[in-house]
Amino acid sequence: MIKLFTSIILLFFCFSSIAQNLNEPCYFDKYQRLHKVAINKSEVEIKKEIEKSKLQKATLPSVKIIPVVVHVVHDGGTNNISDAQIQSQIDVLNEDFRKIIGTNGYGNGVDTEIEFCLAKKDPQGKCTNGIVRIKSPLSNHQTHQRSQLKLLSYWDNLRYLNIYVVKNINNGSGTLGYSSFPGGPPDEDGIVVRHDYFGKTGTASTTLGRTTTHEVGHWFGLYHTFNGGCGADTCADGDYVCDTPPAANPNFGCPTINSCSIDVPNVNDQIQNYLDYSNDNCKNMFTNGQAQRMQATLASFRIDIWQTWNIDSTGCSAGFVNNNCNVIADFVTLNPNICVGNSITFYNKSQNNPTTYQWFFQGGVPATSAVANPTVTYSSIGNFQVKLIATNSIGVDSLILNNYINVTTPPIGQSLPYFEGFEAYSFPANGITIDNPDGGITWERDTVAIAYQGTASAKINNLININYGQSDAMILPRFDFTSFVGIPYLNFKWAYAKSDPNYSDELIVLVSKDCGVTWTQVFYRTGSTMITGTTQTTPYIPDANTTWKIANISLATYTTYPNVLIKIVNVTDGGNNLYIDNINLGSNITNLNDNETSSHNLSVYPNPSNGHFYIDYESINPGDESIEVSDVLGRVVFESNIKAHAIGVQKIEVSTPLQNGFYNVLLKTKQGVFIKKIVINK
Ligand SMILES: [Zn+2]
Repeated sequence: MIKLFTSIILLFFCFSSIAQNLNEPCYFDKYQRLHKVAINKSEVEIKKEIEKSKLQKATLPSVKIIPVVVHVVHDGGTNNISDAQIQSQIDVLNEDFRKIIGTNGYGNGVDTEIEFCLAKKDPQGKCTNGIVRIKSPLSNHQTHQRSQLKLLSYWDNLRYLNIYVVKNINNGSGTLGYSSFPGGPPDEDGIVVRHDYFGKTGTASTTLGRTTTHEVGHWFGLYHTFNGGCGADTCADGDYVCDTPPAANPNFGCPTINSCSIDVPNVNDQIQNYLDYSNDNCKNMFTNGQAQRMQATLASFRIDIWQTWNIDSTGCSAGFVNNNCNVIADFVTLNPNICVGNSITFYNKSQNNPTTYQWFFQGGVPATSAVANPTVTYSSIGNFQVKLIATNSIGVDSLILNNYINVTTPPIGQSLPYFEGFEAYSFPANGITIDNPDGGITWERDTVAIAYQGTASAKINNLININYGQSDAMILPRFDFTSFVGIPYLNFKWAYAKSDPNYSDELIVLVSKDCGVTWTQVFYRTGSTMITGTTQTTPYIPDANTTWKIANISLATYTTYPNVLIKIVNVTDGGNNLYIDNINLGSNITNLNDNETSSHNLSVYPNPSNGHFYIDYESINPGDESIEVSDVLGRVVFESNIKAHAIGVQKIEVSTPLQNGFYNVLLKTKQGVFIKKIVINK
């Protein structure tokens, strides 16, 4: 069963319960709309377990303990939260899930019989406080970089609940946290929460820690109480829990509201439920039905984590004490494979309050360091050892990674200019490689849309690209900018429309001058700055080359680098088709076509046509313009022998017997070729 889901990311994104941004929906709403099929598959498994548990009703469920590891990914500021703040969140989880008397969690709900324990043994069985601290730029977390976050630090998800505490999510978009869903791929499993909503002391002292309670609910397979709106059945749709009253919308604040009337008896929305968006101070309950769902997940997708053998091996059994843990030396770098002359930053993640560090870098400059996160330059090729000795108040530990750093000589970049218009049948071609980390939907060659020029372009189909936040890159070949005279420019054309006004994919261009160790963003478009067509739920297909937009990016800061990497990245939001055409790298292109295209005003009508149609265009250079109609294979099926004699509107009548199908109308001029698509449907 679990295998079915390995290629599907199941994530819930959750937004402020303090109503910072009411218009910003939770990502789960979109997930539900697009991925009914995948959700229903998860449902089959969970429902099966619920039925089983009903048969065994006499057996009281024993309390199940969940070992937790908290990875604090910080920037060195106050977001490097205290151990006490972390413990306050673990306490809140226990108060809320166990409905402990005398706490905020003692509301109208049930005791779910689930407890949480900050791990006391790490995956190797070493004494730990269950907290990993890493100073990294990834503290400014982008949801599309979630796999990178997990490359920094990740403990076996069958044995630990991985929680990441970060400074920020998506540049302060209002997203406070998100969670994977049972059945997602193992390397995506876990929860990410903003530091100022984690726990109830320190930087989160204005909250009661219920953002994490809510996310852990998702992690156990719960939906929002407002999932699906009022729906038609309080059990069989919505949040698939009978005893949570349906809610038409997320509730913010602490309102008294009865937004749906299909429930019998017809009661108010349950704003006290942890799975609504109401304020922390009015949330205090899980229902019996929600507890059943969570127990069903613990009996299926998450069956290992609470078993006695795991509780023992993670140090979470009753009475186990982990006072005075020795330091555990540990570090990571995201880019151990580099080119000669490049630098690497090492991220220390030693555990148990380390106090001093001694680093040794074979082949590196400096060769030794005493700082926590050193940056080291490698000037010769080879494989090199890195050693870290860390101390704390208890003792010393060391970690040696042999051949960890791999330094190579980069191949020489090709010289400019460079052009790719995707006209060749093979794809990718011309030195382009495709980076498709999830192995799913990615860039392909397209001949259906009207290309910016010629008959083909590159496309990525975001309508079915459901792995939200996943990047797919077209990586151009390496370029030598040193041999180019003048300022190099990257120029390309794109076309895009949304499928929903609230969601947008992203188009990003990144440049690296150090063999891909670090990347700099030089171009970014999303939403209204990205669209070239109107929002449509059907696949977006550009029907004229005049709809394409132009990116023109100066790369002046890279003129001294012999080995420049450029990638054009699509980040999917489950939106619509994105097209790229005519990638030019070289001198600045003065783009005539924006003005020239509109002044030609090429139009074809009626469209669709029964085979008898008209072509209008404005002539600018009479005698130097011609009209052709070609089929999808590029064969010319009509050619106008009428030439304009004067500047102004020209009208050409076409009455040629054509088969039903798509055809391109080409206006060939001195400024370029302009194209409109026509459908013949007799
Ligand atoms: Zn949520």
